[in-house]
Amino acid sequence: MITTAEARRAVLAAMPAFDSESVSTNRATGRVLRQTVVAERDQPPFDRVMMDGIALRFSDIENGSRVLPVQATQAAGDEQIRLEDGKCIEIMTGASLPQGADCVVPVERISVRDGSASLEADYEVKQRQFIHARGSDHKCGSELLSAGKRVSPMDIAVITSCGLTDIDVSKSPAIHVISTGNELVPAGEPIEPHQIRLSNGPALVAMLTTHGYGHTEHEHIVDEPELLKERIANHLDNADVLVLSGGVSMGKADYIPQVLAELGVKVSFHKISQRPGKPMWFGMGPKKQAVFALPGNPVSTLVCCRQYVIPALDAASGLAEQQPEFAALTQDVSFKPELTCFLPVRLISGTGGQVLAMPVQTNTSGDFAALSRTDGYIELPAEESLFAAGSAARLYRW
Ligand code: AMP
Ligand code: MG
Repeated sequence: MITTAEARRAVLAAMPAFDSESVSTNRATGRVLRQTVVAERDQPPFDRVMMDGIALRFSDIENGSRVLPVQATQAAGDEQIRLEDGKCIEIMTGASLPQGADCVVPVERISVRDGSASLEADYEVKQRQFIHARGSDHKCGSELLSAGKRVSPMDIAVITSCGLTDIDVSKSPAIHVISTGNELVPAGEPIEPHQIRLSNGPALVAMLTTHGYGHTEHEHIVDEPELLKERIANHLDNADVLVLSGGVSMGKADYIPQVLAELGVKVSFHKISQRPGKPMWFGMGPKKQAVFALPGNPVSTLVCCRQYVIPALDAASGLAEQQPEFAALTQDVSFKPELTCFLPVRLISGTGGQVLAMPVQTNTSGDFAALSRTDGYIELPAEESLFAAGSAARLYRW
């Protein structure tokens, strides 16, 4: 049986790189950027007025002028006017600084009468005040975004400010989620006392979508080897990634490893020394389709998806490596088995600003309702069995 670190390495090493595609900026948020973005122009592109008020020549104030005739008005978007000696120009925030002007006095500091602006008696003017200098945020041609970042709303501001309408991002992989099990009945259909509501498939689709992988379909297949083979073969033809839940343990109806082998999916590993999620299976299809077969227990399914499937999709999308996160335990935890423990936690803020992880016990690895109260899980290494309150553990947010 391999360790959690070995499993993660094996998955990342096997993943092919997804192609990139050009999409319009209004569809780019949440996708992984696959190009650099360089500044189209200096920012600001001109000496930008930062206050509503008047623009004037500092030398006129130095020479004792406190009352200046208003030559003209220049609003944001208006072409730049040339300021005449001894005068001022009424300007608005966002306007280009009039030619010849080198300082701005806010409207609160002046009074305008008979076409002239008078400065407040004791108001002291500094040269270049309230001018956002051309190129002071960044210069034309400077690299503003690099490949490997998930596009945020702030990035959309940057991208569109560079004049781009389309951008190269990672192609969204076609993912087929398959729930297996005779006992499963989807929501909305009548259910018998001996049956179970099918919840893993929709939860997996939701988790994938939340992480930016929304090109996802779901199907339920009963535990029937020939049917499983036919349906999974079809999905292998039409998907980049398969995520299965159920049917990978040692029970008589656990046909998935055998069916996948018969379809030419090469096993990379089966079973990881972890709890929950020990029976997980992973392999690659004949056309480099990644196949994740997750144990059916709902907690196991979600932990395995977050721990292995999401990082694999992120890496294949070209996402740059993320900084690991840690949280301090709020209480002592003991976990005896020689397995890595993924312990669901709720995060709270310590008064000193630390991130604290409060363990939330799940009754069994089927106790999915408890997970709604959690923010993620922490990883407790297999080599130790006692984890003291206050000690730091690696944190994975859902
Ligand atoms: P399996 O891995 O197929 O042996 O399933 C383990 C347990 O998880 C069984 O009790 C199943 O009923 C339950 N289970 C499997 N798949 C699902 C699912 N899609 N939704 C909810 N429970 C499931
Ligand atoms: Mg099953």
